[in-house]
Amino acid sequence: MSLPAFATLAPAEPVLDEVRARFTELEARFDAAGSAAERAQVIADWDALSRETSTAISWVQLRFRQDTRDAEVKAARDRMDELAPKLQELEVGFKRKLLEGPHRAELEGRFGPQAFALWDCDRRSFDPALKQDLTQESKLTAAYTELLASAAIEFQGETLNLSGITPFCQDADRDVRHAAEHARWGFFAAHQSRLDALYDELVQLRQGMARKLGLQSYTELAYLRRQRIDYGPEDVARFREEVAAHVVPMAHELRRQQARRLGLESLAYWDEAVLDPAGNPKPRGDHDWMLQRAQAMFDAVGGGLSPFFRELAGGGYLDLETREGKAGGGFCTSFPSVGSPFVFANFNGTEGDVKVFTHEIGHAYQNFRSMGQPLLDYTWPTIEGAEVFSMGLEFLSWPQMEQFFGDDAERYRRGHLQESLLFLPYGVAVDHFQHEVFERPDASPAERHAMWQELERLYLPWRDYGDLAYPASGAFWQRQRHIYCYPFYYIDYTLALTCALQFWVIARKDPQDALARYEALCPTGGQRPFQAMIREAGLTSPFEPGCLREVVEQARAYLD
Ligand code: ZN
Repeated sequence: MSLPAFATLAPAEPVLDEVRARFTELEARFDAAGSAAERAQVIADWDALSRETSTAISWVQLRFRQDTRDAEVKAARDRMDELAPKLQELEVGFKRKLLEGPHRAELEGRFGPQAFALWDCDRRSFDPALKQDLTQESKLTAAYTELLASAAIEFQGETLNLSGITPFCQDADRDVRHAAEHARWGFFAAHQSRLDALYDELVQLRQGMARKLGLQSYTELAYLRRQRIDYGPEDVARFREEVAAHVVPMAHELRRQQARRLGLESLAYWDEAVLDPAGNPKPRGDHDWMLQRAQAMFDAVGGGLSPFFRELAGGGYLDLETREGKAGGGFCTSFPSVGSPFVFANFNGTEGDVKVFTHEIGHAYQNFRSMGQPLLDYTWPTIEGAEVFSMGLEFLSWPQMEQFFGDDAERYRRGHLQESLLFLPYGVAVDHFQHEVFERPDASPAERHAMWQELERLYLPWRDYGDLAYPASGAFWQRQRHIYCYPFYYIDYTLALTCALQFWVIARKDPQDALARYEALCPTGGQRPFQAMIREAGLTSPFEPGCLREVVEQARAYLD
């Protein structure tokens, strides 16, 4: 394998009329094809075109995030934002043809049923009659984002936004944390009526869209939109019960131990962020040092990761340093016509650098190994499946954490495992809440707050908001962006984590076995639905009873 240098890439900007003409030609050739082999060739040509446009879109979006001040790139991104939905429409039109045409059985035989199941979700969840509602939905979610971004919180003589106040909420000094939480929640309390009203409008709008499509409830529509193929709301409900039965008692115990470590009689909400009184361990070097260490880590892990990382770093497919003008966050994107993923991050010298980095490299490696799939839609699994690879690598790289943290590595591992276990109850609470909301879409805002409160008692029984009146009134969920902006997208993290923790259990007994299963799963990409993919690696589906029992036992043994 040999990737072209990233700096030499310059994918041409797609021209709508040209792309449309190519689609027209593909459709005509497909209709005229006289054999299965000819049809397969048309699909291969269509896939190459899709990869080309997808690469062009990813490239422009990435370039913009690399330097948000570059006016030329910004203009190109704006043009692409205009163009993308039109390209999407052409794509969906072609997929519809394959879905509804007379050759479906032949094509399913060739590509497997998963592509058709995915496309069917897209077809059933969209109707031109929804266009206006979708525009309204993005206006309301943008209003939520803007409202949160407008936060100007006065604290210790500074004016801070919501991310600026966060370090104070994690301060080693308990009084500082307490005061910072007061300030943070003061912002939410001051905007209660707006936050309640925005969510109420979103719920009514989403419920209305479902009805227009002839569906009973938005829950059904959300599952289609998220392309959930081989599980439904009943399965998810069973998984939540599993978390409540097996993880919540352990998480409660972890919170008690945390209180003891912090020398407190009982833990208040403002103490929860401080897992380790010694503070979080930090990687012991700068960006270049981190890259050397990462290469040493992947060389030691072995398998395909070692040459992959050398190629990715050597080709310039990593952008990890924070710079002025660079957008925040970390993600993995992909150039499917080139055959390479790209990892973007913003190192800031914290342990989070190592976590984000191994996470995104996990995504990148899976995507890279799936490039040979015959369909672009198979180069990634659906989201809950994709996260198995990123979270999985976070755990598979555990034995190498000395590379970054020296003799603090064990503190890093313990913190990572505790955070993971503590996340599961919160994650399912966020999911459960949304199911309840759409079960009773006409509930009042006050009733919704009461629903959340009840779920907090079930999943987070240790939680004590003390004198923080606003979250104590059942409003905590209002700071969870997904609930407003990405409905029902949250359980995905907990499902993936349940699988990643199983990789951890296997790796504890036999690291080579865990790695071999991971490596074997990577190239299968998105060719199977979630549960089928998991079983392929010999893992237990999160929807099977007992899926977390061994994880919890092993975690308890490890942490004791
Ligand atoms: Zn991820």
